[in-house]
Amino acid sequence: MTRGGGAPEALALALSPLLQPLRLLSRAGLDRVAVLREIEPLVQRVVEQARPYAGDLEAGLDRLQETARGFDSAPEAGRRTAIAALVRELSGLLEVPAEIAALGRDESTATPKPTSNTTPTSNTTPTSNTTSNTTPTSTRTSTSTSSRASPSRPPARRAAIAAAAQKAGLTPDPLLTPVDQLRGVGPAIRDKLRGKGLETVQDLLLNLPRRYEDRRKRRTVAEAPLGERSVIAGSVAWIDEVRARRGRRLEVRLRDDEGGYLMLLWFHYRPSLVQRLRTGARIVVSGEVRAGWRGGGKTMSHPDVEPLEAGGGGALPFDPASDDSFGRVVPVYTELEGVPARTYRRIARRAVDEYARHLADVLPRGVLERRELWPLAEAVREAHFPDRSAEVAAAAQRPAGEPHRRMAFEELFMVQLGLALRRRGVKVEPGIAFRATEEAIERIVKSLPWPLTRAQRRSVGAIAQDMRKPEPMNRLLQGDVGSGKTAVALCAALLAVEDGYQAALMAPTEILAEQHTRSLRRLLLHRRDVHVELVTGSLGARERAHAERLMRGGAAHIVVGTHALAEEDTDFHKLGLAVIDEQHRFGVMTRARLMKKGARPDVLVMTATPIPRTLALTLYGDLDVSVLDELPPGRTPIATRVYRDAQRDRAYDVVRRELKAGRQAYVVLPLVEESEKLADLKAATKERDRLAADVFPDVPIGLVHGRQSAQERNDAMDRFLRGEDRILVATTVIEVGVDVPNATVMLVEHAERFGLSQLHQLRGRVGRGAAKSHCLLLTGTSGAEWGPAARERLKVMEETTDGFRIAEVDLELRGPGEFLGTRQSGMPDFAVAELTRDQAILQEAREEAFALVQSDPDLRKPENAALRDAFQNRWRGRLSLARVG
Ligand code: ADP
Ligand code: MG
Repeated sequence: MTRGGGAPEALALALSPLLQPLRLLSRAGLDRVAVLREIEPLVQRVVEQARPYAGDLEAGLDRLQETARGFDSAPEAGRRTAIAALVRELSGLLEVPAEIAALGRDESTATPKPTSNTTPTSNTTPTSNTTSNTTPTSTRTSTSTSSRASPSRPPARRAAIAAAAQKAGLTPDPLLTPVDQLRGVGPAIRDKLRGKGLETVQDLLLNLPRRYEDRRKRRTVAEAPLGERSVIAGSVAWIDEVRARRGRRLEVRLRDDEGGYLMLLWFHYRPSLVQRLRTGARIVVSGEVRAGWRGGGKTMSHPDVEPLEAGGGGALPFDPASDDSFGRVVPVYTELEGVPARTYRRIARRAVDEYARHLADVLPRGVLERRELWPLAEAVREAHFPDRSAEVAAAAQRPAGEPHRRMAFEELFMVQLGLALRRRGVKVEPGIAFRATEEAIERIVKSLPWPLTRAQRRSVGAIAQDMRKPEPMNRLLQGDVGSGKTAVALCAALLAVEDGYQAALMAPTEILAEQHTRSLRRLLLHRRDVHVELVTGSLGARERAHAERLMRGGAAHIVVGTHALAEEDTDFHKLGLAVIDEQHRFGVMTRARLMKKGARPDVLVMTATPIPRTLALTLYGDLDVSVLDELPPGRTPIATRVYRDAQRDRAYDVVRRELKAGRQAYVVLPLVEESEKLADLKAATKERDRLAADVFPDVPIGLVHGRQSAQERNDAMDRFLRGEDRILVATTVIEVGVDVPNATVMLVEHAERFGLSQLHQLRGRVGRGAAKSHCLLLTGTSGAEWGPAARERLKVMEETTDGFRIAEVDLELRGPGEFLGTRQSGMPDFAVAELTRDQAILQEAREEAFALVQSDPDLRKPENAALRDAFQNRWRGRLSLARVG
């Protein structure tokens, strides 16, 4: 439901390179169609790049690609029709300018023409001997698959268990039946299935279709509307392999029962296909019907073909009960190399028919009833072969409706159950009840250099309330860059310190930890009694020992550090509060380890990555949430502009102007791979030297990067903070947390290489004072390397500074895993659920899971026994979850 405006826009953008040749043509006139060059590769390339943004429109992209097949070698008439088709397909995907759209209508004049040359093109070679030079594919199987079987260990184990159980005469779980026990699955196919981790019937049942195709209606050629998928039956009138400039092509004319002709086209195919399509063969085909190909009438490219039984069971393919590829809404699975779609469908059908009934519901009956969920067996059956839900599947063409809801619900429910149990695990044992009096809060807030914003006040209030309770606090503080999270964390820390406890602040990077230390010390300038200590991995041995002594002895009141804080040998005197910054970079385990450093300390998690709600509920669903939705007063929005490399001087002018006004500037370089850090360092050093020599010779320029010692880096930061260095050249180590209000301009090199959230974080380094700030995004020298996705990202950066909007676009562009940026983020991999669209299901699943844990905190009730088992089995191995309890 939440498809933001971003996606269609992105798709249009991605496809826009196609408009250029069309515009040319619309100006020059369609008669000049012969001058177009390299259209096919252009379309292929652009479409491939556009795929990630296709959403529901994937089929449109397929068709678009199809229209350009063979274009470059086609004669003029064919080109005309192809252009018309191309324009029409394109119009379905984006807003096409009127003059271009006109090209699509011209087709009406082009179609009648072809009738004059309905005879096959004459440059053909009647073949069947040309086909034999390709190696038969069936002989390749056993060698390649045995090596592939290893990555799929869990199913292999299941199959082994099943086999052993069978040998021992035990009744095995029918769902663990190895696939080759299904009729029609021999060793060759078994190996191929196994190569994809499909070992047991259960694996088959849980390998759900990606999309659906409506093949219920059978049409004659005359009835089949252009631009729509149709199912058409007939006999092969004529077959020919055509040698084209690039490779061959198979052309087949199908004659339907009313004498209408349909041209079937294949641009890549196996020899076996040619054998199946002998003249006179009765077949059914399914595919999209398009306007003529090279003068033919209606055309279908790469259709699915099914032989019609000669005589006897002629009705068979249209009996939905007995056929799985025609006469019904047909599932389309992710392609398995070496297993034709039809074959796989038949296998899936057997698995569903014979075994789906063994899928037991683990969700408690109450939940199933309250939420009106289908039994799992029924949902899985329908997800594969929609029958009751055929209309919905046909309309959506992808997993939707009740079957999808049932399975997504279970998946999301299991995750929420894990969160509910984790939350309860935290809350159930007593922690520290701080005093955190109103009076103490007032005192602390008054000691800050400015009044808190309303949002900050609200958060401090909620935190203090949590801290007063005997159960441990488990709260998330979410706020955009610059919203003032540090001050809130400090207030909480001081409340702990007032009661004689220590507070820890853990940051994901050293530079950020150093920055936090600096900011805290600055804010605590008048509180000589509060000591802030820094502990990081790159501290010298002596310094580290000293810092740890202070920490252990309790003289360090607030300890700032990296993950080093959570390491085995780090000890606190009396840890009362743990603040974790940018938690998603650490993962749940680090949080748990840090908590063990004290007697169940309160935990405050902070994030500057505005996380869309669905994601937050999944990732932080066990936390209470405070949001800083307000920036400190007096900020002026940052002006962001993209510059091409050729406009570099204009970007430098902006920097120069700011420098002249007494401001400071960042120049940010992309951080390359870990393994290339040395090269990266060289690049940063070189860039600093270049700027100093050629561009800004009259100002001191500093440098920070990940390879410096803490001391060097600290010195560089300090020089910049004090204004001694006017420009700071930096790799992305400054991404988070650096706070120099006098810096008003940031120039980002190779901005196209950065992720959207990362750019947003970077940009947050400027605009921290009252003066107007600028963010200059320089794009790489070679325009070729940055595709539509990068362009979209940069455009969003220009358009908005709203972190939530940026996060949402980013999430849509990259998906949850990438969005969070790390494997260890604790984000489960969903097989069925799609967070961006299944929000309502998530909400329901969450309510039920939390209610369940409320009523049966240890899942001890008999009616929850199945659930408990399933949970511990991690939803049949598909989800990675925390342990129970
Ligand atoms: P965040 O960590 O959320 O990105 P910071 O805590 O670094 O933000 O705060 C951003 C800047 O705003 C800092 O320079 C900080 O001193 C300043 N600041 C924070 N709170 C206030 C406030 N209530 N009024 C004015 N300035 C503030
Ligand atoms: Mg901060």
